[in-house]
Amino acid sequence: MVDFKEAAWGRPFAPVIAVDGQAGSGKSTLSKGLSQLLGLPTLGTGLFYRAASLWMLENESRLLSDSTQLTEAISNLSIEIEEERTFLNGVDVTGRLRSSELQDILPKVSANPQIRSYLVGLQRSWVNAHGSSVVEGRDIGTVVFPTAYFKVFLRVSSEIQVLRRPEERETIASRDLADSTRAVSPSTPAPDSVVFDTSNLSAQDVLDAVVTLLNARVEELLSDELGIERKGSKRL
Ligand code: C5P
Repeated sequence: MVDFKEAAWGRPFAPVIAVDGQAGSGKSTLSKGLSQLLGLPTLGTGLFYRAASLWMLENESRLLSDSTQLTEAISNLSIEIEEERTFLNGVDVTGRLRSSELQDILPKVSANPQIRSYLVGLQRSWVNAHGSSVVEGRDIGTVVFPTAYFKVFLRVSSEIQVLRRPEERETIASRDLADSTRAVSPSTPAPDSVVFDTSNLSAQDVLDAVVTLLNARVEELLSDELGIERKGSKRL
């Protein structure tokens, strides 16, 4: 196994493995697998959108129609994610982030450009503080870390999606559609990502395939670098 941290250090890439894709496609499972194998922390960026939705639901739903007030209010929003726990303005809200109360507001919050831009800043700060990491979401390879070292995008068929998330049977397809068709940062593969349809693959198959490609990418970069150094040119 190539040392990702070592290979990513000092290069013109964000030291990030970006895992984007559809709901129920296996992003979280893949991220956890990579994180364990490579010894890297992992960040599920959906938690930021879920926590912001909770904030909006509890306090500020009127702000979604007033961008001036929203700009002012959002600068006081604090979301911190540490060791599997999420804190909204200092309060641990971990247990509430997957509840159905967020169902209606979540797509509105995710489609709002001001909120997205604020949350993208928080996600970048998290990586600055934690270093090399596996970051999971919808727009990591396209918007949050367009220079990510390695990018994966996972797809899944609607039949398998529902089998994997029976509790979200009613909403998962429409959430996915909203995510992939919204005007701001739609969920779509970056041109330089590797794309897998995981419908007929086990979690281990996906992890193995991604690790093989990641190793190949790291080795390719390392050998390019050796070649460049041999010719006496500038180091990457
Ligand atoms: O990944 P998770 O299911 O927790 O994401 C919840 C919602 O947050 C997504 O359906 C999407 O609307 C939004 N999201 C996003 N961009 C991200 C991560 C999540 O818009 N990078």
